[in-house]
Amino acid sequence: MHLQFDNRFVAALPADPETTNQRRQVHKAGYSWVTPTPVANPSLVAVASEVAELIGLDARDCRSQDFLDVFSGNTVPAGAQPFAMCYGGHQFGNWAGQLGDGRAINLGEVVGQDGQPWALQLKGAGATPYSRTADGLAVLRSSIREFLCSEAMHHLGVPTTRALSLVQTGEQVMRDMMYDGNAEFEPGAVVCRVSPSFVRFGNFQLFAARDELTELRMLTNFVIQQHFPQLLEDFEPDSSSLVAAFFDAVCQRTVRMVVEWMRVGFVHGVMNTDNMSILGLTIDYGPYGWLDNFDPDWTPNTTDAQHRRYRYGQQANVALWNCYQLANALYPLVNDSMPLEASLEAFQASYQSQWQAMMASKLGLIAFQSEDGALIADLESLLTQTETDLTLFFRCLAQPELTVSTFKPAFYDEQISVEYRSALTTWLTTYQARLAQDGRSQAERATAMNAVNPKFIFRNYLAQQAIELAEAGDYSRIHTLLEVLRKPYDAQPEYAHFAARRPDWAKTKAGCSML
Ligand code: AMP
Ligand code: MG
Ligand code: MG
Repeated sequence: MHLQFDNRFVAALPADPETTNQRRQVHKAGYSWVTPTPVANPSLVAVASEVAELIGLDARDCRSQDFLDVFSGNTVPAGAQPFAMCYGGHQFGNWAGQLGDGRAINLGEVVGQDGQPWALQLKGAGATPYSRTADGLAVLRSSIREFLCSEAMHHLGVPTTRALSLVQTGEQVMRDMMYDGNAEFEPGAVVCRVSPSFVRFGNFQLFAARDELTELRMLTNFVIQQHFPQLLEDFEPDSSSLVAAFFDAVCQRTVRMVVEWMRVGFVHGVMNTDNMSILGLTIDYGPYGWLDNFDPDWTPNTTDAQHRRYRYGQQANVALWNCYQLANALYPLVNDSMPLEASLEAFQASYQSQWQAMMASKLGLIAFQSEDGALIADLESLLTQTETDLTLFFRCLAQPELTVSTFKPAFYDEQISVEYRSALTTWLTTYQARLAQDGRSQAERATAMNAVNPKFIFRNYLAQQAIELAEAGDYSRIHTLLEVLRKPYDAQPEYAHFAARRPDWAKTKAGCSML
């Protein structure tokens, strides 16, 4: 197995001179050198072959002992210089100071077959200077969730970090202390995440908060050169307008990411600024969840149950709030609030228009027209009046015959009230009249709708079933789901059971792990 490392990030920023894993505050440095902690008895659970291909690995490489050694953290591959990034962030609205990669270890960037650099990161490979009071490890349960969800999101067309591999370490990891004071042990695992960059809003914020402006400038220049090179054609290097244009581009990418989350019913669950990618990629699959029944107030994060800061319907507002924090961090390089404020205003306008266009596409309309606002609002209200599965509803809506019974597969309640039937019938009449204006054929409409309304999402209960099987030693469901979720818009009738609405046992959070 050969990986062509070129280690751009570490070359661009100063390193922490200390090299122990001792937890500490790290100043004026982008990262600390670390070594993954070896594990007892690694075994390969799953590989995403498309991601392997991206970084130049073939099927034989993925089956090799080398692969297992490297992606369990047991061997540092030739050319790699592993490090943990130093960043800060706002957690649940409060500045938390230094956070950093507490359980992620970067191997560096490899140049893929397309000539693009891809950063490789082992999640759960042991402690770093940023681990604070925690162990730097990850359990199989959350690693399965991260591995499958990143790939599902990619195939849905949502901007995301990718996942190459899932390895079980053969070690037990201590998790939640039980009420009787006994610790619970769970199998440990390591996921290798792959992304053009793992830089977050929080990397900029920490430099700014500490007034480390030289390092802030170095990071900004690096990210622009690597990921926004077209801006260098229009703006002078180091100029205030270059940084402002960069901020604007980040805002626009963030808008797109959230619109895509809303389209597929994804709730990130922990949109702290340290979990906001500077490239507008979905990053850090922790307590995320997928809407089964449509509910704008739903949040998968049990620690957020009271305030619901990160609920489904709030994600655009939170993303905007996070962009404000990034604006504050970049301000010392712009020294003018006007362009930054203009980008924040543009965020709202773009979100509004992209969300409308996205909703129109879900409805099979050729384009959003201003009267469609009421049609969408009425539908959202209907969807909350009786428990309705968001994903199944939109697949049903693509059918030629539209009556209340068309939507039976999407309803969670057996009994549908007379009032509701009549309200839905009225809505369907208005909707069909609107479709008639577009004059699209039924076949054309159905094809367009089924290309934006997925049949298969990584439902919380599917994750739970895969986890329970894997914990009993059976990885086959992980492989099957990886396969099914590769084609989320296809009918795949042989896998129809994976598109079914949530079973009753999975309704409570106790039944379904969200972490
Ligand atoms: P998160 O909420 O997952 O984004 O994590 C917030 C911070 O806690 C980040 O700095 C993580 O690296 C760190 N962290 C989370 N879990 C662990 C763990 N098991 N060991 C060490 N650090 C962790
Ligand atoms: Mg995080
Ligand atoms: Mg996390």
